[in-house]
Amino acid sequence: MKACAVRNIRLCTKDCLCLYVCPTGATDTENSIIDVTKCIGCEACAKACPSGAISMMPLELPVQQVKQAEVINSLKEMAGRKVKKEEQALSLAKKEEKLGLKRLLIALATAERFIAEDLLREAGYMLPQSANAHRFLEDLIANPPTEDFPKEIAQKLLELIPNNEEV
Ligand code: SF4
Ligand code: SF4
Repeated sequence: MKACAVRNIRLCTKDCLCLYVCPTGATDTENSIIDVTKCIGCEACAKACPSGAISMMPLELPVQQVKQAEVINSLKEMAGRKVKKEEQALSLAKKEEKLGLKRLLIALATAERFIAEDLLREAGYMLPQSANAHRFLEDLIANPPTEDFPKEIAQKLLELIPNNEEV
């Protein structure tokens, strides 16, 4: 098996087509999570699902390119500027009484957030198999940002998805 089916529960409209087409019964579970021990990766459920709720997850993730330190630092700097602009737009939106302008400022803040996320993704932080994502998770486990930060789940992620960056 090269891939395994995963179901996005938020998109699932529970019409159960995947239950009928699955040859192994992997989709028929109590908790709606497809049973990875039964899935043979045939894709029948993903093709049958009318809501696009099922996608195929490769079991081996692509090897990550190494990013040069200069590139990472520039991207981080740009992302930092975008986050500041997002904060400014949100702060102005909070004080703004005209509804149209308030909405415009919130839309601007959202756009700045999306660009910051894209920049961080380009810096290698979004993919779980990258070295940067691993360093970030390790740092969160060592210095949890909140008391209820799920350290065990973060640790499990590190173990389940190894860093496969090229060296
Ligand atoms: S076919 Fe798609 S929408 Fe229907 S139950 Fe399965 S995952 Fe949900
Ligand atoms: S990919 Fe095939 S075996 Fe796996 S859950 Fe979907 S229908 Fe079942």
